[in-house]
Amino acid sequence: PCTDYDMAYFKAYSHIGVHEEMLKDHVRTSTYRNAIMHHQDLISGKVVLDVGCGTGVLSIFCAFAGATRIVPGTHAIVPIDDISGIGTVSGCHVYAVDASDIAIQAMEIVGENELSDKVVVLHGRIEDVIIEEKVDVIISEWMGYMLLYESMLGSVIFARDKWLKPGGLILPSHASLYMAPITNSQRYQDSVYFWRDVYGIKMSSMMPLAKQCAFMEPSVETISGENVLTWPTVVSQVDCYTIQAQELETITATFKFTSMLQAPLHGFAFWFDVEFNGPVRQKSKKQTNQSLDGNTQHASPSSKKKKPDVSIVLSTAPEDAPTHWQQTLLYLFEPIELKKDQNIEGSVTISQSQQHARFLNICLKYL
Ligand code: SAH
Repeated sequence: PCTDYDMAYFKAYSHIGVHEEMLKDHVRTSTYRNAIMHHQDLISGKVVLDVGCGTGVLSIFCAFAGATRIVPGTHAIVPIDDISGIGTVSGCHVYAVDASDIAIQAMEIVGENELSDKVVVLHGRIEDVIIEEKVDVIISEWMGYMLLYESMLGSVIFARDKWLKPGGLILPSHASLYMAPITNSQRYQDSVYFWRDVYGIKMSSMMPLAKQCAFMEPSVETISGENVLTWPTVVSQVDCYTIQAQELETITATFKFTSMLQAPLHGFAFWFDVEFNGPVRQKSKKQTNQSLDGNTQHASPSSKKKKPDVSIVLSTAPEDAPTHWQQTLLYLFEPIELKKDQNIEGSVTISQSQQHARFLNICLKYL
């Protein structure tokens, strides 16, 4: 059933700002486009389902991927932009589904690009729409802050189990959530020590409230690689081909960090990456020379020379180019003076809120 929370959630996605922010996130959008082009041979001429299409951008990229052709004799792949007047490969069509009213704009955008015969926009929840065929490909941009905020992955799992043909492609295919201890004196200064002296007035009594207000909730902000004190730990790894919804209810990871430098520990940062790999055909099968993404090309002289496949990765790590996801920070109320090689051990549990499954409860223990 569609709860009031869901209604509010979909309403938020009817505003232009969120879509503008996502589309202007060039790292995000161009990585999706690259991944679609990379898997073009698995998309062209196939049936695609875009879970949460928003403006329809990914659906249209897929329609374009279906609209490319192999130039005979050269094995070169030429995108439609480069071939004026060539139509889409017949048989390729995309179901673009969104419960938010942005679907109305998606329909118009599809029309504006003369793709109405290829992209079908369905305005409804993925859990409610009727699609009367199985699909070869599922694409979705479901990742929230800290990967799992918004819990939209459940809708992708639902779509996979209902419509994806065996051996079908899911983009992205894998996701990893990382965490690492961080130092960020500037942030502590701005939010807490600021109150020590305000125009010559002592306002230290504000400090407990300041900490409460600034650090009670996780904070989404951009840090740099220099804030990070050690190598990260993997909190969770998701294989979108196999994960079950129950596995997302509670995720627990233990950690043991050894500080690489002497610095105040201000808290912990979380970030994620996603990979765009094809379906792995058979787990037990020899992996030699079989590209991990299952992107086995039909025998052709060029396929022998094919370089081993490198995964396409969309990273939101502090050391990589910033994205609209930034990083998610959990600050400590009191910094801890860490010595070099000092250990920090603990555990983190991320669980979907009982009241509202799109929210997360985070329990962090450390010593
Ligand atoms: N694919 C677009 C938008 C991604 S944002 C892009 O890449 O730019 C996620 C979208 O999924 C939102 O528009 C939201 O309304 C939609 N969405 C989330 N859960 C959904 C569900 N269960 N059914 C249908 N749409 C959903």
